[in-house]
Amino acid sequence: EKVGPVDINVAVVRVCEMLERVLPKMYRLDLHLESHLGRISADANQLEQVVMNLVMNARDAMPDGGTITIKTSPATVDEVLAQKLGMLRRGAAVRLSIADTGPGIPHEIQDRIYEPFFTTKPPDKGTGLGLAIVYSVIKRFGGGIVCESEPGSGTRFHLYFPVSHAES
Ligand code: ADP
Ligand code: MG
Repeated sequence: EKVGPVDINVAVVRVCEMLERVLPKMYRLDLHLESHLGRISADANQLEQVVMNLVMNARDAMPDGGTITIKTSPATVDEVLAQKLGMLRRGAAVRLSIADTGPGIPHEIQDRIYEPFFTTKPPDKGTGLGLAIVYSVIKRFGGGIVCESEPGSGTRFHLYFPVSHAES
């Protein structure tokens, strides 16, 4: 592990460069990256793994293709959001959102998706570890995650990371 100030946009672009080579053409990748985001304190490789896991889930949810939208923006974590996300630090943050146009996540399983080995996929397609890894990486760097998913209208994950004190 190598923790330092990371530009989240750089991590996203690196993952998208890889994805452009492996994602079939029926998937559209939409990027909306805001510049002048503060840097976050994280391990760049682990952050890329997080983005990759979320995009792979979006792909799996849309076997006939669809749109995957990745957005970054500055955010403020207030008391209410900090409580909701279990974040220790309030204040300046970066928000990373990953959305798909798939079928959504049924309400009755939404609070189980971060559990290790929880999967709705056949054993050769999913280990159930993707979101457990996402969750633990986010927590390690002081962040939080929230899922918005209405069955029938896609899934959107919002990730929040505190802006690094060291450099922004
Ligand atoms: P795996 O992908 O191996 O099944 P994950 O931990 O990555 O394990 O995801 C757990 C479960 O959460 C998936 O099996 C699926 O049911 C659900 N899920 C995750 N992301 C999405 C998504 N974008 N759309 C629909 N369901 C999802
Ligand atoms: Mg997965």
